[in-house]
Amino acid sequence: MSLHEECGIFGVYSDSQTDAARYCFYGLYALQHRGQESCGIVVNDDGVFSSHKDVGLVGEVFTKERLSAFPGGSMAVAHTRYGTTGSSSRRNCQPIEVNHQKGRLALAHNGNLSNAAVLRSGLELSGAIFHTTTDSEIIAYIITRERLRTASIEDAVSEAMKSLEGAYSLIVMSPRKLICARDPMGFRPLCYGKTPDGTYVVASESCALHAVGAKPIRDVEPGEILIFGQNGIESRREYCGKNKKSLCVFEYIYFARPDSVIDGVFVQNARVKAGEILAAQYPVDADIVTGVPDSGIDAAIGYSRASGIPYGVGLIKNKYVGRTFISPGDRMDQVKIKLSATEETVKGKRVVLIDDSIVRGTTLRGIVSLLREAGAKEIHVRVAAPPFLHPCCYGTDIDSKEHLIACRCSLKEISEMLGTDSLGYFPLERLGELTGGQGFCSACFSGRYPTEIPADTRKDRYEQKLSEIQ
Ligand code: AMP
Repeated sequence: MSLHEECGIFGVYSDSQTDAARYCFYGLYALQHRGQESCGIVVNDDGVFSSHKDVGLVGEVFTKERLSAFPGGSMAVAHTRYGTTGSSSRRNCQPIEVNHQKGRLALAHNGNLSNAAVLRSGLELSGAIFHTTTDSEIIAYIITRERLRTASIEDAVSEAMKSLEGAYSLIVMSPRKLICARDPMGFRPLCYGKTPDGTYVVASESCALHAVGAKPIRDVEPGEILIFGQNGIESRREYCGKNKKSLCVFEYIYFARPDSVIDGVFVQNARVKAGEILAAQYPVDADIVTGVPDSGIDAAIGYSRASGIPYGVGLIKNKYVGRTFISPGDRMDQVKIKLSATEETVKGKRVVLIDDSIVRGTTLRGIVSLLREAGAKEIHVRVAAPPFLHPCCYGTDIDSKEHLIACRCSLKEISEMLGTDSLGYFPLERLGELTGGQGFCSACFSGRYPTEIPADTRKDRYEQKLSEIQ
């Protein structure tokens, strides 16, 4: 429902006081690539919650002063969010905090529910009032309601999971426990580890465990509920193994950091493999292979290795610019702000240019013209993802078909529009080779959705003006 939630989540549990806020800060900092719009931390100091949330990057929101203002605590939950509608950002900051009849909870969520609209309208008809337009608030509401009739918070989470469909990796903090859960299909990643001082940390990606000096223990399994509490760690598995695994394959292609390991697969290896497959599928006579920084680099290395064509750094990224996808509008100029071509590497050369994916095509068109201006003789684009043809209802910001270039144009037309000499997309039928044999979701490429899908996937459906509603 609502906003597409590409997010990073992080949690901390210790039996005694620990520097929970600081762990969260460094954890979120390592997860910044999963969401740059807003972030928040809630610290639990002996049952009392202190929070701070705001729009902005982790380093902007959590200044030294702000971090020091947190009390010490034994637990915390944190979130970094990439929403795709501008107006509602502050209201939709997470973690969500709820005071309820039996206490309080804070919740951080990554993913989108595919039955959110149905759940929300049912709840609203029974009197619920929502403050945000996020799916996460629906989850918090259902857990809170279940908590009234269950013996424990983990029972409430388990009961709530009966009605949730789609993608959710969750961290829920109660006064005494930290609970994490992953949806039974495992759309979004979640893992945990332990720091040398005995603190448990839970994170969307393993790179955030390393950032706080924690040793990864394992991934949370699809359907698993993990409870960190005074009695140690308990794993509940009533939803495990019941559904076909549907990890988002785009995590490997683009979202995740290349140094993360997700469900046993090293993200960097998946990307290198994608490049090797592209080289076998679409060979070309060329002088150098170059990758679009950052997420095209590993695939370019794979293409280079498999083809024997040397790898060259043809594009330099300004380190101080974030992901341009975040800013709306025409991004032709933004490409120039973000990237420049190295004339020395590409002038007079036949270049194989590897990018992770094409959504609207704007970025790549800008990059191709940069390379031409720098004197590239031929440009052969290879894309490490199949064409995006379908909206995602599980949290990837690929919403309406009219924005997807592959929905509007043929391969030849796209190639012409980009100004390339040739174009090859990753073959849909070989995606399984990137995921180490585990089940995955490729709905945005294949149209095969592993759950029922909502009727309305527009990301601005809660932000529409009266005049736009029929
Ligand atoms: P464009 O084709 O101009 O819309 O931009 C495509 C580029 O945006 C890709 O090469 C990725 O680096 C990046 N990208 C693709 N999908 C997403 C997404 N869901 N969220 C953020 N960035 C994305």
